[in-house]
Amino acid sequence: MPDLATATILWPVLLGGLGAVAGSFLATLVIRWPHEHSVLHGRSQCDACHAPLGARDLVPLLSAAVTRGLCRVCGARIDPRHWQIELGCVFVGVLAGLAVPGPVGLAGAVFGWLLLTLAALDLAYFVLPNVLTVTLAIGGLVTGVLGVEPPLADRLIGGAAGFASLWLIGEGYRLIRKRVGLGGGDPKMLGAIGLWLGWQMLPVVLFLAALTGLAIVLVGMVTGKSAALTDAKPFGALLAIAAYPAWLFLLGSVA
Ligand SMILES: [Zn+2]
Repeated sequence: MPDLATATILWPVLLGGLGAVAGSFLATLVIRWPHEHSVLHGRSQCDACHAPLGARDLVPLLSAAVTRGLCRVCGARIDPRHWQIELGCVFVGVLAGLAVPGPVGLAGAVFGWLLLTLAALDLAYFVLPNVLTVTLAIGGLVTGVLGVEPPLADRLIGGAAGFASLWLIGEGYRLIRKRVGLGGGDPKMLGAIGLWLGWQMLPVVLFLAALTGLAIVLVGMVTGKSAALTDAKPFGALLAIAAYPAWLFLLGSVA
């Protein structure tokens, strides 16, 4: 039987390693999104010279460190989002393993990896693809059915309340201002988050998202970049950034 110290180290290391692998896949999904919408077709290749990438090019993080982010064939700069998303997924996995060592931590890491992917897509292209928000929602339902905290009833109310609140705000804004204020994916995003966290955490998530948005706007004002933020707000990305620490806090304090 592993002693307590082993278990404490085992899960962060395991989920961090899994995060590197998941991050490698998810980074490719994000970067290729506008082109082919799928990473399941075709071999991995350099985006510039289309040289096929072998096993030694695809080791998460290490490959980028060794080649300093350049293609070994043509020397083109490989999209830095590869290593950034990989590193983000490692971080998400380690945090989940620290907060909730065990299978529930794995579920939380999957939640974090999906959120990170949605945030990256929202930041890059202002899209929250249905395939990912629905996957996130199903994950929330499945973990609830399996008995992971919070209880399923709280999650179902959270899913409905999260979706309905942003949908109503979006519709109201559209009727009053005669233009679209919220993206169509935002209500689905908050609904899916509600299915993971339960309705009680929704105000916390909205508050953290608003606070993060405000902080970004303030930093933008100080550094003179405020104009870009008034045009389009990746609200889904803010929700994702807020939802993961909320989950860590919720499950970390339950365990
Ligand atoms: Zn190349």
